[in-house]
Amino acid sequence: MKAIVFERFGGPEVLELRDVADPKPAPDEVVVEVKACAINHLDLWVRQGLRGLDIEMPHILGNDVVGIAREVGAVVRHVKPGDRVLVCPTLSCGACPQCHAGDDNLCRQYDVIGRRRNGGYAERVAVPGANCLPYPENLDWTDAAAVPLVFLTAWHMLVGRAAIKPGEDCLVIGGGSGVGSAAVQIARMLGARVIATAGGPAKVDRLRALGAHDVVDHATEDVPARVRELTAKKGVEVVFEHVGGAVFEQAVGTLARNGRLVTCGATTGGKVQFDLNLLFGKHLALFGSWMGRRAELVEVLRFIRDGRLKPVVDSVMPLAEARRAHERIEAREHFGKVVLVP
Ligand SMILES: [Zn+2]
Repeated sequence: MKAIVFERFGGPEVLELRDVADPKPAPDEVVVEVKACAINHLDLWVRQGLRGLDIEMPHILGNDVVGIAREVGAVVRHVKPGDRVLVCPTLSCGACPQCHAGDDNLCRQYDVIGRRRNGGYAERVAVPGANCLPYPENLDWTDAAAVPLVFLTAWHMLVGRAAIKPGEDCLVIGGGSGVGSAAVQIARMLGARVIATAGGPAKVDRLRALGAHDVVDHATEDVPARVRELTAKKGVEVVFEHVGGAVFEQAVGTLARNGRLVTCGATTGGKVQFDLNLLFGKHLALFGSWMGRRAELVEVLRFIRDGRLKPVVDSVMPLAEARRAHERIEAREHFGKVVLVP
């Protein structure tokens, strides 16, 4: 089969289209014919070489897979060849206290398809049978591939961690990213007033169309000042953050008393400075968030199926152009998800 592989860590240029052996399913696995696979920032981090992540080379990226079950392992009961499936990207041991409690994202062996094990930048991928979820039949392949990781992440951040409530003000940083475009919709659906940030007039317009009540253009406007103005100096109850660096530092300053900031990433840098006086003086809470519980993906998929939440696809590219797709994301040209089609 054809697959995009890399053999050493580095920039987008390490991604190569190659012929590799077809995967074979273990008894508890399913081989899925990949119809679409979305790109996530996690792919870029793995390609660059995450600290402490040793993976077998050559490696195949890709967390968000949808497709058709082609070979089904002997002990998998709920999937048969020919079924359309949406693959849950998360992996956990299933046997530790955290897994038993349903907090599978806190499992010590927690992982994501395409991180250590091979993922979906390929014509076929073997996945644990338990990860094959019913396909959302209202969506086409490329829209469905744009759902799992970002909607799971955003749902866990806003619902599982920040416990957002109707009537609260929520600042979504980088609303045009994959995870940001999911957060804008989730916060709005749950009754919050959404203020989103984006760079440039085109993204500002698209965020309004997506449901943001107010959009601040971080390229031309002072974000903290605009948030103060929009909230009559109160600040926001919830900040949705994934950028890090100076953006994180500014975002802490936009919180209202008793506000919560939740973050799932630090694409511009993990080292930040802020005044602890602000943290206790304003009774703030800072939440880290990593992926989400499998049950939360099932929960958010209900709203995807009934159309209340919609995947946002920036562009669809052939698998062979994975390198160009990574370059587009690194250059922050995208709005929503970039999806590869084998
Ligand atoms: Zn576990």
